[in-house]
Amino acid sequence: MSPTVSFNLIREYWAPFPWGTEASGITNTCNFDSFLAHIIFLHRHDPTYFARVLNHVNSVPEHTIRRIVALYSARVPNAVYLSTQSHFMWRSMLMLDTSQQARFLGTQRGSGRAGVINMASTMDVTVFQPLSDSSLLWFVHSCSCRESVDPASRFPLVYAEEIQKVVDGVFDSDKSKKKCKQCQTTFNSRHRPFVAQTTWFIHFPIGNPQTFSHLTLLSDIPEIITLPELRTGNEIDFQLGFISYTHYHANLRVPYGHTTSVHLIGRNFYEYDGMERGGDLRPLEEGEEPHAAGREARYAVYFRL
Ligand SMILES: [Zn+2]
Repeated sequence: MSPTVSFNLIREYWAPFPWGTEASGITNTCNFDSFLAHIIFLHRHDPTYFARVLNHVNSVPEHTIRRIVALYSARVPNAVYLSTQSHFMWRSMLMLDTSQQARFLGTQRGSGRAGVINMASTMDVTVFQPLSDSSLLWFVHSCSCRESVDPASRFPLVYAEEIQKVVDGVFDSDKSKKKCKQCQTTFNSRHRPFVAQTTWFIHFPIGNPQTFSHLTLLSDIPEIITLPELRTGNEIDFQLGFISYTHYHANLRVPYGHTTSVHLIGRNFYEYDGMERGGDLRPLEEGEEPHAAGREARYAVYFRL
């Protein structure tokens, strides 16, 4: 795809998604803005996408996604009004889960004005945990005496640095380095995780603290990952949607950094920062690496094709 085609995709389908300012009544929304902005793009690009991939009957987060993307059917959306609506809808969803409430500060405190909701948190808490049922990943381990299905989604077992190994089918899960106590054979993980029929996105943390490896170049991140589906055995393609970054404030006493992202649209990368350009995208220059600009890459997020 040529840059022109990507640019037209943006023009046509990207809805500017501004960050919540204090004036909007809900602020510090950056930790879920990249995700919401991207799913809105997916919906505008293919209005049947979420009808196809959202398959949980009773999932409140999935229902909230349906409601949010439905707001964005207008050709020229009212950016600030709609992102504010989306922020409140996502926050209501988070507050419904009482186990979540204590995990982020999205309750009463504004950083200045009274009554402003402060959503400062991390993407892990406000996106990945509530949607964990929609991003299930397992390893099937077998030895001579049994076969077991071990969930991988809730543990950072696969770091982004190892995605290429997963793609190449040479990845070793932690368990596949161990032996079964009963039969004394080494667990075979088939070197690839499985997805569920309800898995419509997957995410990989970037930066393995054990190996100190850290993906730095955008070109090192595979664009497409193909994973087998449990039960059907079908090979499912997932495409890179975006990479999230955290900017830490060196001199401020704030617990969370600012989150931004780089989105793959067509063949090109675009930077998103809800605090800049009214939530519109900026094309990266040829060879420009966002990692070098004082921020840390945190997650690579892929979406089912
Ligand atoms: Zn065994």
